Amino acid sequence: MHHQDSSVSLCDAAREFLSRGRFGLLINGQDVPAASGATLETVDPSTGAVIGHLAAGDGVDVDRAVKAARAAFQGGWSRWTAYERQALLQRAHDAIDRNFEELAQIETTDMGAPISRTRASKAAVLRMIQFFASQCTAVAGETLPNGLPGDVTTMSFNAPVGVIGGIIPWNGPLNGQWWILGAALATGCTVVLKPAEDASLSVLRVAGLLHEIGLPPGVVNVVTGYGSTAGAALSRHPDVDRIAFTGSTDTGRRIIEASAVNIKKLQLELGGKSPDIIFADADLDKAVPGAAMGVFANSGQICFAGTRVFVQRPIVEEFCQRVAAFTRTVRVGPGLNADSQLGPLISGRQLDRVLSYIDLGGREGAKLICGGERMRGDNLAGGYYVSPTVFADVANDMRIAREEIFGPVLSVIPFDTLDEAIALGNQTEYGLGGAVWTRDISQAFKVVKGIQSGVMWVNCYGLIDPLVGFGGTKHSGYGAKGGRAHLDTYLYRKTVYIDG
Ligand code: NAP
Ligand code: MG
Repeated sequence: MHHQDSSVSLCDAAREFLSRGRFGLLINGQDVPAASGATLETVDPSTGAVIGHLAAGDGVDVDRAVKAARAAFQGGWSRWTAYERQALLQRAHDAIDRNFEELAQIETTDMGAPISRTRASKAAVLRMIQFFASQCTAVAGETLPNGLPGDVTTMSFNAPVGVIGGIIPWNGPLNGQWWILGAALATGCTVVLKPAEDASLSVLRVAGLLHEIGLPPGVVNVVTGYGSTAGAALSRHPDVDRIAFTGSTDTGRRIIEASAVNIKKLQLELGGKSPDIIFADADLDKAVPGAAMGVFANSGQICFAGTRVFVQRPIVEEFCQRVAAFTRTVRVGPGLNADSQLGPLISGRQLDRVLSYIDLGGREGAKLICGGERMRGDNLAGGYYVSPTVFADVANDMRIAREEIFGPVLSVIPFDTLDEAIALGNQTEYGLGGAVWTRDISQAFKVVKGIQSGVMWVNCYGLIDPLVGFGGTKHSGYGAKGGRAHLDTYLYRKTVYIDG
């Protein structure tokens, strides 16, 4: 299953970056230790080996970073024109493009996603930067009619709010950081970014690259550290104007509570338990791999993973056989193995969590038809590998169908009618993604309209473009990601009345 010879050796730039061993905070353009001197270990999930120490920032460091971001917002950065910020984003695009192999190798080493996946994310990352570059010159106000007596002119501006706190998870920071960086640079805001303790390295490297191409100090600051200290301090800081957060619904709730301190507007992309509905008339040659990879991609560590696969009764047997057969062909291995399609989970903690859900599924009466084990063979020992797992005969009220597992675990839930599929699909506290596979267009549209979720796919799964975007409803959060509405988190509307 694993071939030593297809192992990618690190390029010089990635080796040099990773061999630093110690990674500081980035505050006001300076690489600095945490004020307390504390550090935390960061690990390669393919092996469990420590690859370096991150500065463990706390409230004191967050406060320093926020002061730097505020000073930058009020200083020279506020005089940059939209064209100048656009040119900066264009240079960022080119720098990311030129250095992508290094960034992909850093990301793979740090968070385990296979190199095939991190390399393939290049197009998406570059598209995102291009999208935000285009938005620099698209932020406009309007002149408005009014019925006031006299000669009054009325208009509105869209003004940058100020300092953005960004808090992101570990499941794809090379891409995920751009939802925040791109929007802040496009609108003229400044940022304090708190990456996940388990995957901070690509964020630090990108911030370094941005400073190399002329980003002024203080515009983008990075405070690594624990969520419960650095993240909590950022979300309750009275001089942070907005928070953009991606992560779990529980943490989202804490951030909402903390936001009351200064009425922070939030953009929240939280958990999901998305339904993927497969009708008997679907093209199974597409639907089987499509639905399987809709769960297994990134080892199941994707917020909109289609983890509840509803299959119409007449094809349940065939679907289960085919999805199990497909799943057994998926190659799991170290991220730096060019053949790997799936890598390890992010951490020992996530490994334990996923294995405990697999155990629970069996006890709840679901039928394990493939996978379900920690993988230790060959060169996998020490890493956090779980074989992609399929449960059949799942009921929608089992905990494995209700709770977000965030691992490669697919649940097959049978249904009979379209109305039943929609009702079961909506029986969840989440509302992030969903999909339908059918050749019948009216059936597809009924599902698209009937499912309460922020994004729906038809005969495909997981396509995302920043021009189109996605978002959540219900406990999956609020605030658009992508599209023009994305910038609403970074702007406020100011109306003006001019007499005379
Ligand atoms: P999480 O705890 O919500 O972490 C997301 C980010 O929030 C990380 O940067 C985290 O820092 C930070 N954070 C944690 N506690 C915080 C607090 N009290 N205040 C402010 N920030 C805080 O999620 P996780 O621990 O990585 O994963 C747990 C579960 O969240 C997963 O199993 C999955 O269900 C869900 N999840 C969803 C997504 C998504 O894209 N929607 C992504 C990842 C995880 P630390 O990493 O240092 O704790
Ligand atoms: Mg790591």
